[in-house]
Amino acid sequence: MKLIRFGSIGDEKTGIAIGGVLYDTSAFGEDYNEHFFANDGIARLAAFVDANQSSLPEVPAGTRLGSPVARPSKIVCIGLNYADHARETGATPPPEPVIFMKSTTSLVGPNDNIMVPKDSKKTDWEVELAVVIGKKASYVEEGEALDYVAGYALHNDVSEREFQLERAGTWDKGKGCDTFAPLGPWLVTPDEVADVNNLHLWLTVNGKTMQNGTTANFIFNVPFVIAYVSRFMTLLPGDVISTGTPAGVGLGMNPQVYLQPGDVVELGIDGLGTSKQHVVAYHK
Ligand code: ZN
Repeated sequence: MKLIRFGSIGDEKTGIAIGGVLYDTSAFGEDYNEHFFANDGIARLAAFVDANQSSLPEVPAGTRLGSPVARPSKIVCIGLNYADHARETGATPPPEPVIFMKSTTSLVGPNDNIMVPKDSKKTDWEVELAVVIGKKASYVEEGEALDYVAGYALHNDVSEREFQLERAGTWDKGKGCDTFAPLGPWLVTPDEVADVNNLHLWLTVNGKTMQNGTTANFIFNVPFVIAYVSRFMTLLPGDVISTGTPAGVGLGMNPQVYLQPGDVVELGIDGLGTSKQHVVAYHK
């Protein structure tokens, strides 16, 4: 199943995508949030869709998509999880995963604008595979980690490199700005993803390919990452883990290249769809 949320910002309704057509499932009566995932929501939604498919309204063409999950309790990110990306940033591949957090207020829809923060000069892109947690996870064994997954989604881990790397302290300052986490178009359930550790992912800026990688090059794969993070914090249903980016970010180029108002970023992962963001200047 491919879950979507659509409608105006902060007032999204729920739906599903079937064969390229979007259907409104708001009659199911639950948002895709912690309570939904914790209470077997995906299986109950599937039964609802089976029983009502012929009468589900279609979502009108051109409707805005929101994040496919409602605001989670946290967005946990893995840094430097591809050796080629670690190299391009001048970092040594880490002996164990680097963890940092994105603010949950950075979450936006897949095709919403990226807003360059006030006084930002170094806003950058990162195509990533995001994992959405399906049940409470604490001290999970690696061999059972995939049982804790609700699904997967495309994520752009937008990053302000000066805030992240030159303003002292941890990376979080450069990761949590408004609009810095376009997620979606869909939350794709695991039964539709053959091998999450072997997916092609790509990103273009103004039509030029910048990132072109595969999750087969993870340093730490998805089960390892879930088990690892769950040793340091309890993951709640609906939480997002973003698994790191391959080479090809603006920081790694010579000379470095950063996003400017007017730029257009497009990205995709096999089976998880594509997204497109226009870059705009800071505004209230
Ligand atoms: Zn990242």
